[in-house]
Amino acid sequence: MAGDNSRSIGPIVLLGPPGAGKGTQAKRISEFFAIPQISTGDLLRQHVKDQTGLGLLAKDIMARGELVPDELLYDMVAQRLREADCERGFILDGFPRTAAQAGWLDAFLEREFFDKSKPGKCLPIVIRIDVDYNDLLRRLTGRRTCPACGRIYNVHLQPPRVDELCDVDGFKLVTRNDDREEVVRERLNVYEQLTRPVADYYRDKGRLVSVDGGLPVDEVFEQILREIRGRAAATVSQGE
Ligand code: AMP
Repeated sequence: MAGDNSRSIGPIVLLGPPGAGKGTQAKRISEFFAIPQISTGDLLRQHVKDQTGLGLLAKDIMARGELVPDELLYDMVAQRLREADCERGFILDGFPRTAAQAGWLDAFLEREFFDKSKPGKCLPIVIRIDVDYNDLLRRLTGRRTCPACGRIYNVHLQPPRVDELCDVDGFKLVTRNDDREEVVRERLNVYEQLTRPVADYYRDKGRLVSVDGGLPVDEVFEQILREIRGRAAATVSQGE
């Protein structure tokens, strides 16, 4: 499919429980529109690896499958969104995860990005990927990651060509600590309790759209493209 890398796309927020395919879809959107994918999980894992102050604070919280406190994330996210590659738009994957984070993000974008003369710089379109709970458990506990290139597989749904080895570079695949079953259940509980208010926050503002994440990956992507293009068209005509 031909990409689209010239227009302003604006901020995109992907919502959905762990295992809904947010990472996979974010990567595809990022490549298609040539805009960065910003995953707070990845940013935090990098901090843990680099043993920064934030990384040291976040490490145990992440290992337990709990949420890192909101205030610890804001500087990290603000700093990333101010980088030049975010000008035409960006996809947030894993942020916001609480209603407070959603409120902070809107305020930040209005303050630093909102500009009616540049239609791409607007409040986010929010796309929620919906998936059934039992499907999620199966997907998550089967997930394996390549430690070298970051590619994600699933032993049930998207296995590598050779058992446990990455198709791209042959590295042995690993189970991320937070994909272990007890951590997965905790993450789904946290999602239930804390993250639903994020969808409610955006629904109340009329900015939430849902796509069916139970469909094959290509079809989920098609649905998402339709939503993004619909919003881009609406934003341009409002700006004219
Ligand atoms: P993820 O890779 O998105 O599943 O994130 C892995 C872990 O990082 C989560 O289980 C949380 O501990 C932490 N984390 C990532 N994003 C956020 C966020 N927006 N708010 C709080 N904690 C987060």
